[in-house]
Amino acid sequence: MNTHGILIVVSGFSGSGKGTIMKELLKRYDNYALSISATTRAPREGETDGREYFFKTREEFEKMIAKEELIEYAEYVNNYYGTPRAYVEEQLTAGKDVILEIEIQGALKVKKKFPDTLLLFVTPPSAEELRKRLIGRGTETMEVIEQRMQRAIEESDGMESYDYYVINDDLDTCVDEVHRIIQAEHNRSTRN
Ligand code: 5GP
Repeated sequence: MNTHGILIVVSGFSGSGKGTIMKELLKRYDNYALSISATTRAPREGETDGREYFFKTREEFEKMIAKEELIEYAEYVNNYYGTPRAYVEEQLTAGKDVILEIEIQGALKVKKKFPDTLLLFVTPPSAEELRKRLIGRGTETMEVIEQRMQRAIEESDGMESYDYYVINDDLDTCVDEVHRIIQAEHNRSTRN
């Protein structure tokens, strides 16, 4: 019997709404723990150090890499992003299902290191809707939005490595769907 939690990676284009889905999932169920990443990106308005991210300088981040404090890291539109190891290991051992909200390169590294990881990909209903959400969010310049759209196109190539795709056109349905997929994975891993 598997008393460890499951490691779950959730990826999706910037603007897919995956952050909102995860927040809602954590609100509704208490068996999930969300990993907080380290990044060299500047905080957006309303973001707090230690809540959305641990905000680091490039030098601090590179020290974390050297000390092997990260499970994985990747560069995304000119910034580093990485998953701190300690919290993830602690929560999995405590039986929690740990969610990593990370991009594709990092996801594939995690899957390689931990083959039992469940990989979920959240997509917006269309490319047009994605652009609308990115602009509507008002947190990025048009230049960065275009870079993020370009990155979304590049990332499409890695999508076939994922176990499930979830289309985010309705938040409630999407949260339910993600929860059901994870529960099914639990049943499967308990049987094995
Ligand atoms: P944002 O700047 O919009 O918060 O995040 C940009 C991208 O970086 C998103 O796709 C997000 O999922 C990803 N990301 C966030 N944290 C990590 C991390 O720890 N590792 C990796 N590889 N990607 C991350």
